[in-house]
Amino acid sequence: MNIVETPAFRSRAEYWAKLTGRPAIDWNKFTNKLEKAVFQIHEGPSYKAWAGLDETGEKLFFSVSKNTGQQGQSHELFHGLQEFMEPGLMQAAQQGTLGPFSIAAIEISANLYGGTGLGGHIVGPLIPLGGALAFYSVGHLLDYFMLLGEFDK
Ligand SMILES: [Zn+2]
Repeated sequence: MNIVETPAFRSRAEYWAKLTGRPAIDWNKFTNKLEKAVFQIHEGPSYKAWAGLDETGEKLFFSVSKNTGQQGQSHELFHGLQEFMEPGLMQAAQQGTLGPFSIAAIEISANLYGGTGLGGHIVGPLIPLGGALAFYSVGHLLDYFMLLGEFDK
């Protein structure tokens, strides 16, 4: 998976970091982290993709289907980047200690700047897919306003 090395991935991620007031992305550090990451490829449906930390809590962990396309992989790698930029974020999402709006913001950012993933992996355990899709629309608006807020700074 060297999607992260593509200019498309990097420029979108840098745009995201800038828009949301995050520090510049240290690509060398992130690449090092990815080199140590655990990748699991399963036989299930393509939307069953997931990113987080492994059981040690130190390595990034990715689980994607062999049918997950480039967009989906890119989406998951973006979640890896979110975790890298904000350590503990994915764990909090997995443990359900993040509010629904934070989760929506994570997913929307990953969809807008990473790649289109058919949600569900983080949101899935919490609400049924129909709800997740409705949620997506609300979250999208919310994220949009959050981004607009950044322009005022
Ligand atoms: Zn996602």
